[in-house]
Amino acid sequence: MHSFNDIADSTSLVSLSDMPGAIEIDGCAGTVRVPAQLPFASFVEQIDARGWALGNMGSLPHLSVGGATATATHGSGLRNRNLSASVVGIDLVAADGGLLRLNRADPRFPAAGVHLGMLGIVTHVTLAIQPRYHVRQDVYLNVPWTELLADPHGVLDSGYSVSVFAHWGSKTARVWRKHRLLAEQEGDTNGTWCGGSRAVEQSRSSGRTSATSPSSANPAHGMRDCRTSGSIGSPLQRARRSRRST
Ligand SMILES: Cc1cc2nc3c(=O)[nH]c(=O)nc-3n(C[C@H](O)[C@H](O)[C@H](O)COP(=O)(O)OP(=O)(O)OC[C@H]3O[C@@H](n4cnc5c(N)ncnc54)[C@H](O)[C@@H]3O)c2cc1C
Repeated sequence: MHSFNDIADSTSLVSLSDMPGAIEIDGCAGTVRVPAQLPFASFVEQIDARGWALGNMGSLPHLSVGGATATATHGSGLRNRNLSASVVGIDLVAADGGLLRLNRADPRFPAAGVHLGMLGIVTHVTLAIQPRYHVRQDVYLNVPWTELLADPHGVLDSGYSVSVFAHWGSKTARVWRKHRLLAEQEGDTNGTWCGGSRAVEQSRSSGRTSATSPSSANPAHGMRDCRTSGSIGSPLQRARRSRRST
């Protein structure tokens, strides 16, 4: 569990870990039906292999589909909606033991979108999917806060997904910018942005993998960059990126 508050605390917890884990892709409807207990990282490669992708994911790959959509978990990006916004159907076992299947045509569905675990045991979540796309990621080091705060909205809206990682007491931050690509391409090769230096450029100029290398730019200390988001400055498939995160 990953909740910062006590919403997930209980005297009795129900584990769905022994439930079947098969997903069902409906290409005509543009949906995937996912067992609620599955972490995102465990099934996105399957939909990638079939040419599909999710529109957005959370920052953490091991969140369960049931938990993340129950709590309106979000990723980064000003124009990306939270993960519950992708839900088009919910199957749940209600308090009377009956199976309830809700979809967007059901007038009760809007009340179930962010249910916080209060409606019953969700067995499956059906998510909207879209054609597979590529994502380019660049990490910028030593970006001055004076630059970031001069136009915070512009900074956060400068990509499909933009994350700013603060270091307490520091006058600079690390910024992870992702752009969706139309096809496999390198995109821009600027070595600097907003006063900061691209991690891969600094790594090359120093000729060694030091504190400025892409891997050590990872805010999750001790984790290789492929653990969270793959290589820097090169295109990657969003779904494939997730698998590397496991
Ligand atoms: C280090 C860290 C970083 C985080 N980063 C982010 C972030 O970037 N963005 C963000 O939005 N959040 C973030 N979170 C919060 C996290 O995304 C949410 O707490 C999320 O709900 C956790 O998912 P989970 O699978 O662990 O769910 P759980 O904690 O297991 O459950 C969450 C809630 O959903 C209910 N639930 C879960 N499964 C079911 C089911 N099958 N049926 C019915 N109810 C169910 C539970 O009862 C509970 O109320 C972060 C948390 C941590 C610790």
